[in-house]
Amino acid sequence: MKIAIIGGGPSGSVCATLLAQRGHEVAVFDEGGRPEHIAGESLVPGVIPLFRRMGIEDQVAAIGIRKPGVTFFPALGKEFAFSFSSLPRKFPDYAYNVPRPAFDRILEASSAHAGALVIPQRANLIAEGDKLHLSQETLASAGIWNGRQPDFLIDASGRRRLAARLLNIKADVGPRRDVSHFAHYEGFDPERPSGQVRINRLADGWSWRIPLQGKMSFGVVMDQKAAAALGKTPEERLEAAMRNDPLLSSETRGAKRISQAETYANYQLVSTKGVGENWASVGDAFGFVDPMLSPGMLLALQSAELLDEQLSTKPLEDALQVYSTKMKESLNAWRDLIDYFYDGRIFELHDRGCEFQTKLPFLPLGFIETFMSANMSGMASGFTTAEPWSRGVLKYAERFVLGNTPFLSRYAIA
Ligand SMILES: Cc1cc2nc3c(=O)[nH]c(=O)nc-3n(C[C@H](O)[C@H](O)[C@H](O)COP(=O)(O)OP(=O)(O)OC[C@H]3O[C@@H](n4cnc5c(N)ncnc54)[C@H](O)[C@@H]3O)c2cc1C
Repeated sequence: MKIAIIGGGPSGSVCATLLAQRGHEVAVFDEGGRPEHIAGESLVPGVIPLFRRMGIEDQVAAIGIRKPGVTFFPALGKEFAFSFSSLPRKFPDYAYNVPRPAFDRILEASSAHAGALVIPQRANLIAEGDKLHLSQETLASAGIWNGRQPDFLIDASGRRRLAARLLNIKADVGPRRDVSHFAHYEGFDPERPSGQVRINRLADGWSWRIPLQGKMSFGVVMDQKAAAALGKTPEERLEAAMRNDPLLSSETRGAKRISQAETYANYQLVSTKGVGENWASVGDAFGFVDPMLSPGMLLALQSAELLDEQLSTKPLEDALQVYSTKMKESLNAWRDLIDYFYDGRIFELHDRGCEFQTKLPFLPLGFIETFMSANMSGMASGFTTAEPWSRGVLKYAERFVLGNTPFLSRYAIA
């Protein structure tokens, strides 16, 4: 097939690599001009098998830092750390933190190496019913396929959602109206263990600290009004957020910003339809839930892998149907899991699980915590996020330990 991919970010590049490896004629349009710093620097272990399959893990390791797990600080004095080492041995027990532009370049080079043609230009689409075509100008300036339309189109345009916008496909928008700012710093207190990502609950949102080679990515995700009250510029807001939080202020005394701050708003949206007669969306163009557990890149890469697999094993209509259903399941599972962190249920479960353990002395010490941490690591690493067993364990524990009556947790994020 002749396949045009719009967008050469992670989802577009991986799609291009896998489809080109199968012998399809693939052209990737990417308009370039991306900022020097892009969010999406913390990966989860679920991406590692694909890196190995693509033969790029060594390159990713060379630009990144090994990430052993994540520590949450939901309140002063309360720490909830999980380590991917509690994963079953069949799964890789680590991930990487990576600087985005360099990471994206590895993926783009991989697609070119596989035989995809990377065209550095903006692509415009036109709609005809549920079908999409490249505009005549786009085809002509690209100089490909003798001006003939591709057999299939993949929208990998990220949160721009090119196909969905053109076809007036609605988005299922998440409940929060947050803004996110982030920048790179030197001089933060070192994390323990090395490479560990740290998430702090703040007065009106949360912050991330992602260790990168020689620097730290620090970002906040906050209610838009609360962020505006912290300062006029993104840089002022980041520094105020650091100062105002007791734990952060004590651990960032030597912090010095070394990049300008970037801003993101209006994320948390999932298209109600991600496939059509001759097209499919991948990555953020299909849907993005929330950055707290860093699922974005995994979903972007998994969507590419899933689409490639379905297109090569089934007739088109069936392939798109299965692809769309699985993507929606996956996005919903991540959304459910992330809710546990936003409304504080996960930390309540941890507290009460530890209390409960003391009432059951016949169980080996730490049994409940170990069991629940392993389940949580499996889900947060992306290996078992959508698995009924893992989701059932969490639901059952919630009902058993927290009961059925809704309550406001002291750990809930405003
Ligand atoms: C605040 C925040 C924090 C995040 N943190 C993390 C994290 O820690 N870990 C994680 O895994 N994910 C994180 N994410 C999510 C992650 O950034 C995205 O999920 C990921 O970038 C999606 O990749 P993609 O390829 O789908 O889209 P993108 O990376 O957005 O790539 C889209 C590409 O398409 C190109 N394009 C668009 N339109 C056209 C056109 N018409 N013609 C040609 N080219 C076009 C763009 O220039 C771009 O290169 C975060 C997101 C946010 C908002």
